[in-house]
Amino acid sequence: MATSPMKTIGAGELRSSHLGDAVTLAGWVGRRRDHGGVIFVDLRDSTGIVQVVLNPEDAPAPEDVLHGLRSEYCIQVIGTVRPRPEGTVNDDLPTGAVEVVAETLRVLSPSRALPFQIDDRVEVDESLRLQYRYLDMRRPRMAENLRARSKAIGAMRRVMEREGFLEIETPTLIVSTPEGARDMLVPSRLRQGSFYALPQSPQLFKQLLMIGGVERYYQVAKCYRDEDFRADRQIEFTQLDFEGSFWGQEDVLSVLEEVVVEVVQELRGEKVALPLTRMTYAEALERYGTDKPDLRFGMEIVDLSEVFAATEFKVFSSVLGSSGCVRGINGGKLGLSRSGLDAFVSRAQELGAKGLVWMVVEEAGSLRSPIAKFLSDAELAAIKTALDGDVGDTLLIAADDARVVGKVLGQLRLDMGQPDDNDELAFAFIVDFPVFDVAEDGGLSPAHHPFTDPGDIETLVSSPEKSVSKAYDLVLNGAELGSGSVRIHDPEIQAKVFEVMNIPPEVAEARFGWFLEALRYGTPPHAGFAIGIDRMVSILRNEPNIREIIPFPKTQTGADPLTGAPGRVEEDQLFDLGIDIRPEVRAAWAEDAGQVEAEDPADA
Ligand code: ASP
Repeated sequence: MATSPMKTIGAGELRSSHLGDAVTLAGWVGRRRDHGGVIFVDLRDSTGIVQVVLNPEDAPAPEDVLHGLRSEYCIQVIGTVRPRPEGTVNDDLPTGAVEVVAETLRVLSPSRALPFQIDDRVEVDESLRLQYRYLDMRRPRMAENLRARSKAIGAMRRVMEREGFLEIETPTLIVSTPEGARDMLVPSRLRQGSFYALPQSPQLFKQLLMIGGVERYYQVAKCYRDEDFRADRQIEFTQLDFEGSFWGQEDVLSVLEEVVVEVVQELRGEKVALPLTRMTYAEALERYGTDKPDLRFGMEIVDLSEVFAATEFKVFSSVLGSSGCVRGINGGKLGLSRSGLDAFVSRAQELGAKGLVWMVVEEAGSLRSPIAKFLSDAELAAIKTALDGDVGDTLLIAADDARVVGKVLGQLRLDMGQPDDNDELAFAFIVDFPVFDVAEDGGLSPAHHPFTDPGDIETLVSSPEKSVSKAYDLVLNGAELGSGSVRIHDPEIQAKVFEVMNIPPEVAEARFGWFLEALRYGTPPHAGFAIGIDRMVSILRNEPNIREIIPFPKTQTGADPLTGAPGRVEEDQLFDLGIDIRPEVRAAWAEDAGQVEAEDPADA
C-alpha cells in the first residue's frame, strides 16, 4: 500500500522484520480489551489487523480519550513495533508475532453505536446490511469479496491487453434493442415523450466497432435488464464484453480459456486444465437435462427407450408411442424409507411430471419397485444394466416428452447430487445452441439475441425449430457464466432472421434500419462473448449470491435500502419530462403516504 505521512504502513503488513520500527498507523478500532489499565485494540485497515497496546502510563492520549475508544472509531496511532510477549503470539494472524505500542493516539473520527457488529460470525439481516453497506464492507468477508472482484477484473484486463484488444466505452443512453429482456427506460427532457433505453448489453455497439475496423474490442460494461427478480439476478450487473473481427467460434473460445485460466489463477491460485470440457446443447440436455450442467458429479441421465421398446407396461408404451421417451438416473445409495422414495414422486410432479418410478436394487440383485410386477424379468435386468445399478442403489425413471423428462430428472439429479461445497471447479463450453427455444405449446422464441448467426438458412426458413445457431455458452458448476456467438454479417441474412423471428420488415426497418444500414458497408465476419463478472466471482468465492460480490446491490424487489432508490421526483421534474403519473398510481401513493413519506429521501 502506498504510504503517506498520515499512515506509513498498513496494519496487516507488520511482521517480525519490522521490530523496532517507528510506524504511523491509521484505521478502525476492532476488538478492544479495556480493563481499566492497559488497553489492547485490534486496529483494522484495508490490509488487515494488528494489535495496538495503549498504556495510560505512556500517556498516548488523555485518559478520557483512551477509555472512550469505541468500536469503529477511526484512529491514528504513532508507535513502535515490538514482539508480543511470550505466550501471547497469535499464529492465526499474519501480524500475530508483533504488536505496536502507542506513543500517540488520535481519534480522527468517532463512530456512532453500530447497527450490527463488524464481525463475519454475526448473522445480520440482509436489508440491514444493505442499508449500512459501508459498514458491511468493513467486515472481512465483504472486504475480501471486493478485493477478489477487483483482482478478477484486473486478470481479465491483462488477458485482453495481452491479446491486443482495445478498451472502448459504449454509450449507456441508447435506443431500445431486442435482447430478450425488458429495457430500462430513461425519459428524455429535450424530446419529451421519447425515451432512451439503458443497454441490456453493448451488443450492437460492439458490432458497429467491428464495422468501424476496430477488430478487437473489450469493455467492463454495466448492463441493465428490467427483469422480475429471480434468486440470483440483478437489474444492473457487470460483464466482460468482447468482440473480434475475422473471427469464428474457436477464436472466441480460446480467448475465453485464457480468461478462465488467468482469473482462476488469480483468485484461487489453481491451474485450470485446458482444453475446457465441451459439449453440444443437445448432448447437455440429454445427459443432464439442462443447458448448464453441473459437471462436478456424474449421475447422468440414461435413455431407456430401447429397453422398453416392446414393453407391455402401458404407461411407458403409450409415452413411447407418442414420440416421448423413458429415461432414468441412478441416484446411488440413498438408503431411503418408502416415504422418502415417494417424496421423489411428489417432487417430480411439482416439476411437471405426471409421475415417476423409483426402484431400489436389493441384496439378491432384484429390483424393488411399485411397478416391478408390470415389467418382465428381461426389462428389469436391462434397467439395472443400463443404469449400472449396484446393491442399494436408488434408480429413478421418468416417461414423458423429452423436455419434461429432462427438466424433472435434471432437477432431481441436482437435488440428490449437487455438492454443498464449491471447492471443485467444473467449467464447460456448451455449443450448437438451437436458434429457437420451443415452448410447450410449440411456440418459438429466440434462444439468443437476433444478431446470432443462425447457421443454415434453408433450415432456418423451412424448419426453424431444427435450426442450430453458432451460439455458445460458458458454464461453471451448473451456472451460466456468459454467452456469445458468431454474428450475422450479411444484411440480407439479418433481415431474414428478423422475418423468421416475426419482426415484420417495416418494424425491423423502423427499429434497426440504422443497424441494417451499417451492415451494408463491408462488415467483417465477427464473433464475441460476454462473461457475467459478478456471477463468475461469486462462484469462485463460494458465495451463494451475486449480491455478495456487487458493492452496492439492489434487494429482491429492486430497491436500494441505502439510498432509497428508486425514489419519487419533484412535480416540476415530471413536468419538464412531459410525464403525467396515472391517477390510479397517485391514488396508490396516497394510500401508503404515511409510510412512503417517512422513507422517501426525495421528500427530505
Ligand atoms: N450481448 C450478449 C449478452 O449480453 C453476449 C454476446 O452475444 O456477446 O448476453
